[in-house]
Amino acid sequence: MTFDDIKTIHSQHYFDLFAREDICLSHGSGSTVYDTQGKPYTDFLAGIAVNILGYGDPDIVNAVCSQAKALMHTSNLFYNQPQTQLTKLLTDDGIFEKVFICNSGAEANEAAIKLTRKYFNKQGGKKYKILTALNSFHGRTLATAAATGQPKYSAPFAPLPPGFIHIPFNDCVALKDCFDNDDTIAAVMLETIQGEGGVINATPEYLSAVRELTRKHGALMIIDEIQTGIMRCGNMYSFLNYDNITPDIITLAKGLGGGMPIGAMLARGDVSNAFEKGDHGTTFGGNPVACAAACAVLKKVTTPDFAAQVKQNGMLMRQLLTKLYAFPQALGISGNGMLLGLKLDSSIDGKAVVREMLQSGFIINCAGNNTLRFAPPLIITPAEIESMTAALYRVIAKASA
Ligand SMILES: *Cc1c(COP(=O)(O)O)cnc(C)c1O
Repeated sequence: MTFDDIKTIHSQHYFDLFAREDICLSHGSGSTVYDTQGKPYTDFLAGIAVNILGYGDPDIVNAVCSQAKALMHTSNLFYNQPQTQLTKLLTDDGIFEKVFICNSGAEANEAAIKLTRKYFNKQGGKKYKILTALNSFHGRTLATAAATGQPKYSAPFAPLPPGFIHIPFNDCVALKDCFDNDDTIAAVMLETIQGEGGVINATPEYLSAVRELTRKHGALMIIDEIQTGIMRCGNMYSFLNYDNITPDIITLAKGLGGGMPIGAMLARGDVSNAFEKGDHGTTFGGNPVACAAACAVLKKVTTPDFAAQVKQNGMLMRQLLTKLYAFPQALGISGNGMLLGLKLDSSIDGKAVVREMLQSGFIINCAGNNTLRFAPPLIITPAEIESMTAALYRVIAKASA
């Protein structure tokens, strides 16, 4: 099939939902991915924070291939070994007690929302509302789109599931107001870094206020770690970068499977006992092949050396990005570890920068707010970081001239 055939079939038959680049990718190795013409791209997006070990990692490939040969699917009417091994790896650190495995981030958040509702319904209480942040992103299913604090994702699909209230991010006063005036709040659900929203960090004061107020009012704290988790921000979970914050529920996906589709919802304490048989379910979730991939990922990324390398290279990337401050159009650097943002003023179109960078052989992305987003494979090398930031310097110099 030629690239023209591919584009024709897509334009005729694939739902026209995605702003795709004029590129068809074919294979990759390390942090480099190649298109069907053989052009290499150093990937600073990693399939949107998914390919955390890059392309063709031998441990993931071996895990997937041997598991596919042995047993590809079982349903959850039976036990399977990779699902159990993954459950053990996700609970060995003692933070969370219970795990539910699904296929995507949105599904993990759906599970978190259902667990929260079940917990309070079971107590016969009246708490059901979930506070989420304006500018957040939690997924594309109806409930997670309603949870997402950006009307463009939800308004076209009204009527929406009720019970989601959006509050300004990092605003402790607005948060306290909600709790003071409403005793039906069941949970606060947040990202520690709003990824899609433009790489915006939660302040430590805000997360502390969320933890304190949820505790005081008998509500739950849910952290959406779908983009920030699995070492992306220099720690297994990004909430570990903050002092004394332990959420009741977290959700994972993206990097967890290193490229295989998988999500997970983890809970601790009382709420982890709220689901009873039949309350929730999934046909594919906990699939042995996806779980085998996730086990390979976790074994590799949770070593102290790997975490140190992510922190060090993340710091290098941040440091090299500060060179862009030579241009007044570069407004600020945000994020943490290997999830960084560079906010541009409105005189430069971030999407045009992304296209120029593609021409130069680098995949980056423009998130909300005209912010360039960098989320490379965690195995990215200092030399690759240096060549990307040098190319970006040239592209922005040209765009701002
Ligand atoms: C990507 C993302 C989701 C949705 O994950 P899907 O796998 O696309 O359903 C939810 N929350 C956050 C923070 C994300 O980055």
